[in-house]
Amino acid sequence: MLYLFCGVLSAAILAAVCRPLFRKDDTLESAIIEETQWDLLQRKKEVVLGNIQDLDALIRREVSARKNKPGAVQSAVCPSCSSKNPIANKFCAECGAKLKH
Ligand SMILES: [Zn+2]
Repeated sequence: MLYLFCGVLSAAILAAVCRPLFRKDDTLESAIIEETQWDLLQRKKEVVLGNIQDLDALIRREVSARKNKPGAVQSAVCPSCSSKNPIANKFCAECGAKLKH
C-alpha cells in the first residue's frame, strides 16, 4: 500500500514537473513572438542609449556654457602688480593702484 502511494505521488510530481515541457503553445509562433519581443527590447535599449547620449551632450554643453559665462568668475587684474582683485574694487587690494575696468 505504501509503495503504491509513493508511486502515485512520484508520478504526480513528475507529471507536474514535466508539464511545461510538453505544452502545445511551444510552437514556431511562440518562437517568432519571442524573437519580436527580443527585437522590441533591443529597440528600447537603443532608444534609451540614444536618450542618455543626448542628455550627456546637453550636460556637456551646459557645463561649458556655465564655465564661459561672463561674470561667473570675473576679476580685475592690477596693471601694476598683476594681482587679481574682485571686479567691484576700484583700487588694487595689494598695491593700491587704480584698477581699469
Ligand atoms: Zn596691484
